[in-house]
Amino acid sequence: MLKYHKILIAAVLMLILISAVNYFVTLSIWWYGGIIIVTTGLLAYGSVNIRSGFYMNVICSADSSAKVIALTFDDGPDDQVTPQVLDLLKKHHLQVAFFCIGSKILKHPGLLERMDNEGHIIGGHSYSHHFMFDLFSAKRMKKELTETEKLIQRVIKKKIKLFRPPYGVTNPTLARALRKTNYTIIGWTLKSKDTVIKDEQKLYNRLVKNTKSAEIILFHDTGLHIIPVLEKFINFAKEKHYHFERLDKLLSINAYE
Ligand SMILES: [Zn+2]
Repeated sequence: MLKYHKILIAAVLMLILISAVNYFVTLSIWWYGGIIIVTTGLLAYGSVNIRSGFYMNVICSADSSAKVIALTFDDGPDDQVTPQVLDLLKKHHLQVAFFCIGSKILKHPGLLERMDNEGHIIGGHSYSHHFMFDLFSAKRMKKELTETEKLIQRVIKKKIKLFRPPYGVTNPTLARALRKTNYTIIGWTLKSKDTVIKDEQKLYNRLVKNTKSAEIILFHDTGLHIIPVLEKFINFAKEKHYHFERLDKLLSINAYE
């Protein structure tokens, strides 16, 4: 049973219990209000925290203590940044996972082909990455997933199996949209915060300070400032005897059907 079902059942049981007590002793209305506020808070926390697994099973790390890292990149392909990321990965002989946006694939199909040709894997990350995506209907969400999947299949002739929710937000609507699909949902262990931290040294420090074993690290191939940081980080990790592995290999899962 998913965590959010358990929370809802617990909240309903608490409300029944309080109603029963209220039959004998008059309780303040705040007993009810308190339970509703706490339940809503917990569900909201679960929604924005992909690692909570409240609404669906999400893989956020590998079950291993080995010094292994899987690099992942969201929100591409971008005609400025993605080629430089690919060049850097090629130079260091690394293979990674790209979670791509459908509308951007439509603009740069050649970059998707290059990712595939150079041994990287590709997953879906919605068609629009619209800032209101989390409020879309399940039908609309599913349409975005399907359109992106078909687009990727048209370009690289492979049917994707991996999906990463936009903004890392999960909720009951997305769970409904994914219900009859065959997707494996991927989160992350460490978020680089590269869309917020533009200072290269700060970004590098954050990565170095937080990198642990068997990590899935989230980057975005949308900002050029990540290029020097990425190179420095790869060198750091190699010096510290970390081993880079492609996401599907680290997790022993299939990227495609
Ligand atoms: Zn994204």
